[in-house]
Amino acid sequence: MDLKLIDRILALGNLIGQAKLAYIEANTDLQVSSWNKGAAELFGYTEDETMGRFLDELTPLTKRELTNCKTTQFITTEVQRSDRTIQCEIFYAPIQSTKGEKFGVAVLAKDISARLKEKATLKRHRRNLSQIFEFAPIGFFHVNSENNIVSSNPEYAWMMGYESSTAVVEQVSDFYSQTFFDVDRSEEFKFSINEAGEVIRFRARLKRKDNSFVWALCYAKTTQDESGRRNGFNGFAIDISETVRAEQELKKLNEKLKMLSVIDGLTQIPNRRKFDEYLGAEWNRHYRNKETMSLILSDIDFFKLYNDNYGHQAGDDCLIQVAKSIQTSASRSSDLAARYGGEEFAIVLPHTDAKGAMVVAETIRKNVQSLMIPHEKSKVNDHVSLSLGVATVTPGSHNSAEGLIAMADQALYAAKEKGRNQCVQKIEQ
Ligand code: GH3
Ligand code: MG
Ligand code: MG
Repeated sequence: MDLKLIDRILALGNLIGQAKLAYIEANTDLQVSSWNKGAAELFGYTEDETMGRFLDELTPLTKRELTNCKTTQFITTEVQRSDRTIQCEIFYAPIQSTKGEKFGVAVLAKDISARLKEKATLKRHRRNLSQIFEFAPIGFFHVNSENNIVSSNPEYAWMMGYESSTAVVEQVSDFYSQTFFDVDRSEEFKFSINEAGEVIRFRARLKRKDNSFVWALCYAKTTQDESGRRNGFNGFAIDISETVRAEQELKKLNEKLKMLSVIDGLTQIPNRRKFDEYLGAEWNRHYRNKETMSLILSDIDFFKLYNDNYGHQAGDDCLIQVAKSIQTSASRSSDLAARYGGEEFAIVLPHTDAKGAMVVAETIRKNVQSLMIPHEKSKVNDHVSLSLGVATVTPGSHNSAEGLIAMADQALYAAKEKGRNQCVQKIEQ
């Protein structure tokens, strides 16, 4: 069924209204005869205010343009409303019969201010983004699904030792092999970006063009094409070489400090703190495994007289020599010789029974003796000598590490009592 012309015009008018288009008709004298709601909104005059008035007074179109118009014309122009200025697209065309008889003119207009503003904002954002990309002190780059770097900013180029961003794009044909200094880190990165889909944060050494490296903190985020398929990733890299260097220095210093805290400053053998730590740990291990261990406490004979006679400095030198000798005498890697205090030394002997411990103690005594350090004031020998107390236990709930020390101390006291320069043993009953 054919729609009547009037119905079609109504449908068209409705559409124009919905699309918020301004629609105006005027007669050949340019007097307005039709002014829709869209026109009222756009030009700021109500329908009543415009009836019979001249079109060239109400719109930016001039009398000449309107009178001379023979075909559809289009302009983009400003419209000065009483409250504001807006940007418009205006189409105007003659209303004429099929024979060319002109009855008037029709105008269709649309407010495009919002669209233009959006475009300008977008342009501004783009410019800002491109400035960030160009000047940021962070390396930016994009890697496509063929592992090529397809864009890079100057910072990334500089960081990686390339002459320019273009050089990076032209010369890096395989991102993974040409970017990571360590192959396994490269594989790890590849795995996380391909399998896990995203690398949030990644610390690695990046290979510069000249094969040197730079420590970098990298962030990566996968990118997708219009259909949502992954097509590469955006990467961000921050040069953290300075930080890493400082961290490494600090680590070294800490290690040194830690070592210093367990080494005796004078004799350079483990100190009392290390002894306590080691004895505690070994005690627990032997307790668990129900194994036997021994401890030797040794003390230089008449050392006060040595100091008095030869001076404190000579006393220190003597301590250094004795310490070294004791350390080499307790030769198993698990043995620990430590300076227990003043001129006393302790030797922890893991997995050592009474017999074995006595052998070690006797070796130590003889070796110190054979240093032949003169000690003319000693009442037991012409040379520096040691008294040693040896204790052996199998750790259990009935005894303790402190008890073991006490046993060795008693044995040492007995060695002194018996005439010094000897080993005395105390075995747990
Ligand atoms: P004993 O045979 O009974 O062990 O007699 P002793 O003189 O060795 O015992 P005493 O405990 O009376 O004296 C220990 C001396 O060791 C006293 C102290 O001045 C000396 N001494 C302790 N530590 C150091 C040190 O670091 N350097 C020096 N030069 N002497 C030290
Ligand atoms: Mg002493
Ligand atoms: Mg002494």
